[in-house]
Amino acid sequence: MIDNKLGAPNSFQKISTKYLCPICNQLASCHVSNYPSKNHFFKDLIVAWCDQCGSGWMPDAKKVMKEYYKKHYSSFTGKRRSRDAINLYSDKQFVSDKRYLRAKNQADLLKLHGAKFDSVYDFGFGLGFFLFVTNPLKRIGFDIDESTALFADYLEIDVLPPWEVPINSIDCILTSHSTEHIEIEDLDKHISSFFQILRPGGSLAIEVPHAALTWINKKGVHMPHTLFFSAQGLELLFKRHGFKVIYRGFASEGMKAPISSQQIYWPPNDDFFNNRNSSALFMIFEK
Ligand SMILES: [Zn+2]
Repeated sequence: MIDNKLGAPNSFQKISTKYLCPICNQLASCHVSNYPSKNHFFKDLIVAWCDQCGSGWMPDAKKVMKEYYKKHYSSFTGKRRSRDAINLYSDKQFVSDKRYLRAKNQADLLKLHGAKFDSVYDFGFGLGFFLFVTNPLKRIGFDIDESTALFADYLEIDVLPPWEVPINSIDCILTSHSTEHIEIEDLDKHISSFFQILRPGGSLAIEVPHAALTWINKKGVHMPHTLFFSAQGLELLFKRHGFKVIYRGFASEGMKAPISSQQIYWPPNDDFFNNRNSSALFMIFEK
C-alpha cells in the first residue's frame, strides 16, 4: 500500500480489453487505479493508465468535471481571484508572485528558441501574466474559470476558445498548467485547433505536471486534473498533430522521485523520458 500523500495511486488493476490511448494513440493494455487524492469529491473516482506511454486519463471526465466545476471549484479560486483582481496590476503586487516569475521564465525560453510575440494566444490565461509579460499587439486567450474575466478586461484580452481563433493568425501559443484539465473527448479537438491557428513557423509552449505515476511516485496534488502526462505521452500527442519538437525541458526541478513498487510502464532509454527529478514538464514545439 502506497501512502496517498505521495500523490500516487494505491494500486493498479489490469483490465482485459485493450484501448486506444487518447494521449499517445497506441493500442495499449490498460490498468485502472483510484484517483490519487484524499479530496472527498475525487477519492472514489477511477483513472485509466496506458502501458505504452505511461500516461493516464479520467474516463467519464466530462460528466464528473461538469459537476465539480459547477459546485466546488470556484468556491476557492473564485474568491481568491476576485479579491486580488482590483489591485494586482495597478499596485504591481505581482513582482514576487511565483506565477508571474513562471510566465517570465516561459517567455524567456520561448524567445531564446525563436518565438515572436506580435499575436499571442494563452490557453488558460489565469491572471494574465504571460500576456502581460509578452505584451503582444494581439492578445487572445481562454480560461474555463469565469472569475478570470476581471483580468481579461483589465489587460484587454480577447476571450475565444481555440476553434474560434482565425487560422494561421498566431505567432505564439502558451498552455501552462491547463491542458491537464481538458476532458479526453475534447483533447484532439484542442490540440488540432492549436495547430491550425498557429502560423507556419509559429511556436507553442506547454507546461504540465509530470504525472507518469505508472512508474514513479511523485508528490503533489492532482485534483482536478483529468489527464496525467508522462514525458513520452506529451511528446507523442503533439507530434501526432503535426508539431515539431524544438525544446524539451523541465520546471520545478527538485528531489528525485522514487520508482514505484508496482510499475506498469517503463520509459524508453531517453534522458527526457527517464527524468524523475522535476514536478513539471516544459516543451516547445513549432508548426
Ligand atoms: Zn498512451
